[in-house]
Amino acid sequence: MQSVLSIENLNVHYGSIHAIKGISLEVKKGQIATLIGANGAGKTTTLNAITNLVKKSGGKILFEGEDITNLSTHEIVSRGIVLVPEGRKIFPNLTVYENLMMGAYSRRDQEKIKKDLNWTLTLFPRLRERLKQLGGTLSGGEQQMLAVARGLMSKPKLLMLDEPSLGLAPLLVKEVFQIIEEIRKEGVTILLVEQNAFAALKVADYAYVLETGKVVIQDSGKDLLNNDDVRKAYLGIA
Ligand code: ATP
Repeated sequence: MQSVLSIENLNVHYGSIHAIKGISLEVKKGQIATLIGANGAGKTTTLNAITNLVKKSGGKILFEGEDITNLSTHEIVSRGIVLVPEGRKIFPNLTVYENLMMGAYSRRDQEKIKKDLNWTLTLFPRLRERLKQLGGTLSGGEQQMLAVARGLMSKPKLLMLDEPSLGLAPLLVKEVFQIIEEIRKEGVTILLVEQNAFAALKVADYAYVLETGKVVIQDSGKDLLNNDDVRKAYLGIA
């Protein structure tokens, strides 16, 4: 299967801290790949390095076969890579509708934007009910949904989600993962970063386990759910 994103030997330093130590990974077209691992393992840094929000000290990043290692964040986004960052970074003083349209700001195809808005609101019915409400008045979970929905409005080829389930009540966590599967069904390729390893492995086609800046295990989501080391260390199952 065709690879959408390919990372070769990525290295990132924060001053003297060697945060990413030669990570290589691949995300295949139409699939969900996930990065799991403990706090501080380097998951967010990897996403930020892909989008050039942090400086790489080495490595190569290919998107749809083209070298994007040294492109600006703006150029990377305009190629179709969207990062939904950790922690509800929506615009609190804009309405839900305006927040969603911010996601489509670089698009000109009004008809398709309308169609995508409708699809997005079908995925997130709660947002449809609150289109005129200010983003800041939504509950935490709804703001998280809005951040993902806004990402979708840019019609990404690769959607990167950083901890979309963080801080959500269990029912909402379930809903978020169902929505992630729905998004994949529409053909969007997804790179998912999660601390909720169990939920992430259940939806992921392929998974990478990160420990202190290195990939220590990689396999299909299904096989990692049955991997004894992963079960002990990340799923709390002896
Ligand atoms: P989390 O789930 O907490 O976001 P993570 O797996 O995403 O964890 P990173 O945030 O990527 O991990 O952090 C990787 C390492 O880099 C950690 O040791 C962290 O302390 C360090 N680090 C991250 N950001 C910075 C920064 N801006 N300056 C210095 N060190 C940083």
